[in-house]
Amino acid sequence: MIPVASPTITDLERKYVQEVMESGWISSTGDFLTKFENKFAEFCNTNFAVMTNNGTTALHLALLALDLKQGEEVIVPVLTYIATANAVSYCGAKPVFVDVFADGTIDCNELEKAITPKTVGVIAVHLYGIPANMNQINEIAKNHRLWVVEDAAEAHGATLHNRIVGSISEIGVFSFYGNKIISTGEGGALVTNNPVIANKARLLRGQGMDLKRRYYFPTIGYNYRMTNLAAAIGLAQLERIREIQDRRQEIRNHYNILFKNFESLEIFDKGHKTGSKCWLYSILLSEDLSCSRDDLQYKLHEAGIETRPFFQLLTEMPPYFENRKFKVGEELSRKGLNLPTFFDLQPSQIEYIVENIRKLIEK
Ligand SMILES: *Cc1c(COP(=O)(O)O)cnc(C)c1O
Repeated sequence: MIPVASPTITDLERKYVQEVMESGWISSTGDFLTKFENKFAEFCNTNFAVMTNNGTTALHLALLALDLKQGEEVIVPVLTYIATANAVSYCGAKPVFVDVFADGTIDCNELEKAITPKTVGVIAVHLYGIPANMNQINEIAKNHRLWVVEDAAEAHGATLHNRIVGSISEIGVFSFYGNKIISTGEGGALVTNNPVIANKARLLRGQGMDLKRRYYFPTIGYNYRMTNLAAAIGLAQLERIREIQDRRQEIRNHYNILFKNFESLEIFDKGHKTGSKCWLYSILLSEDLSCSRDDLQYKLHEAGIETRPFFQLLTEMPPYFENRKFKVGEELSRKGLNLPTFFDLQPSQIEYIVENIRKLIEK
């Protein structure tokens, strides 16, 4: 079976993990954590990085650090992974959903229309590695005195006007889940230039324990710490990130060439939005095919190829159910299909995948 995603693990990851094993520092204190935080902050060109046990808790910490409160509203794109909205709910606040542009990132015009007196912030998502229009989003936010958080869970190293995503607003959040561009197994990061936010995130990450006074707890916090073991994997991945990005770019170019003359599908992010990084290679299928997207997925699965549909709109989920129309998001969600995209994917496998899709839809 060719999976949709799979982490790349080399001797470097093994070596660092082995070092942690031998040192005995397998919990949430250790050299690799400090190094990974420093190197990741450097990579993002921010003053601080705070590592967490996953991307969702990093998002939660970001919102807590911004003092998000019960009853307040946060604007969130309707097409994203559910964690983006759940983090808002954890604070007792309300995610207000808006449609996306055709590139899958939040529609700035809709964003502005969704602002109410209760709105305090916006979470922009760099969906599938494609940078959201941060200039416009920051401008709107500034005019309405809102904060902005970037959910860059799928976009490590993507850039906008030469700035790394995650560093273009108050706080950036990343995930290092097994299927993300770089991974620590489970893991996440919050990056910021603001020392007050970084310290608050550190405090809340460690059960609310005062950063200077051990076992003194001025507030109720959480245990959202990353382990030194995970950081060892993360540091190795970060040292290899250029190589990982280049390989993903090659995979994308290979798919692009093979899909060039297909009539029944469109390549998502075909123009390759400036600065985008390929998380999962995606295609958009015409809706008048004899073979529906779900049939196609099933038949590809039978041929040993795993694929994944685009996210379903969050307003179609019971906790966030709404009857409103989100025209662009709905269309992407219906047509979009993610194809295998990972470091060890072989050129012959890419050819096999495209050939199977051709057989099924280009009759
Ligand atoms: C993966 C992901 C998250 C959450 O990360 P976890 O590490 O799985 O908790 C949040 N937002 C988006 C857009 C994601 O893709």
